Amino acid sequence: MLTVNAVGAPSATDPLEPMTIDRRDLNPEDVLIEIRFCGICHSDINHARSIWHPERYPLVPGHEIAGVVTAVGRDVTRHAPGDRVGVGCMVDSCGHCGNCLNGEEQYCLNGMTLTFGSVDRHGEYTQGGYSTHIVVKDDFVLKIPDNIALEDAGPLLCAGITTYWPLAHWQAGPGKRVAVIGLGGLGHMAIKIAAAMGSEVAVLSQTTRKRDDALRLGAHEFHATGDPGELAKLADSFDIVVNTVSAAVDLDPYLSLLALGGTLANVGAPAEAQTFSMWSVLRNRRNLAGSLIGGNRETQEMLDFCSEHGIGPEIEMIAADGINEAYERVLSSDVRYRFVIDIATLS
Ligand code: NAP
Ligand code: ZN
Repeated sequence: MLTVNAVGAPSATDPLEPMTIDRRDLNPEDVLIEIRFCGICHSDINHARSIWHPERYPLVPGHEIAGVVTAVGRDVTRHAPGDRVGVGCMVDSCGHCGNCLNGEEQYCLNGMTLTFGSVDRHGEYTQGGYSTHIVVKDDFVLKIPDNIALEDAGPLLCAGITTYWPLAHWQAGPGKRVAVIGLGGLGHMAIKIAAAMGSEVAVLSQTTRKRDDALRLGAHEFHATGDPGELAKLADSFDIVVNTVSAAVDLDPYLSLLALGGTLANVGAPAEAQTFSMWSVLRNRRNLAGSLIGGNRETQEMLDFCSEHGIGPEIEMIAADGINEAYERVLSSDVRYRFVIDIATLS
């Protein structure tokens, strides 16, 4: 067992604080990773504060992990010490159900193991990437392409794949109009990926504050949703609307943006239930959809896509003692556009 430094939540209400956690000895299929950087996802905050459901504490968040392999178990063939690797939101799944066999481990019929806050198949409570090391099963360790800097790699493993998946699935590309709602961590990756796929991209943000950034990130249009007339002008005009908003919003105005057969792809995960008028989907036979991250194969495909198109996140690097302040800024929509923790400040 390896005892390592970490930063975690002692309870749902206390600020995060330094702590130590134990990492298991390597099983034959395990990889030991020295973590260099870890992104901060809005979901980390929802877990740390028990927003979605009660969690077990202490809890070390972090599922946008980038680092270097330092040791491997005897059966590991895909990774070797020195490799640049990453870990996203999940660290295990059953591997034999239909969904796992289909490469959709995030929908494992026997339940995937989350990178933190899950009980794994060894019976241990998983702890995430705000820590110096992690032990992860070979199959759930992704290879970071050479031209992607390690500090940029972490956010791709949650924000990147979560937005790449719906854009790829609903076939964003030339001739398609895509709207991205919410310009935060997921939203800014959605803009870059949708633009790289060749689609026309519009950004819908609460205020005009992020207009220049949206256009610089690759958007072709920007609309502030605070002005009710603005959305009405865009009715029936998009093929795909990607909703990345972390809070519950009225879905009807967003559904009304869709052209015939268009899809509202929800990836934002508010805790509250939401309602919508059935007429919003009957008209234009619209689709209301949602998705969780992506499978391992698709995540590697997304990394290769980002490598090929030179896409990375816009990051603000922080030291480990800045995590609580960063959380407050994420909660007030003041992140531009992903905080990344320099794990060297934890050692
Ligand atoms: P984030 O960086 O905080 O971005 C969320 C954005 O939503 C904000 O920047 C803001 O954009 C907008 N927003 C926030 N509150 C709003 C409100 N009350 N009304 C309207 N817009 C609001 O968060 P994130 O890390 O991108 O995560 C976004 C959501 O996705 C979270 O719910 C997270 O838990 C979820 N998530 C889901 C998956 C999945 O697999 N489906 C994966 C990762 C994260 P503007 O300032 O531009 O308005
Ligand atoms: Zn995430």
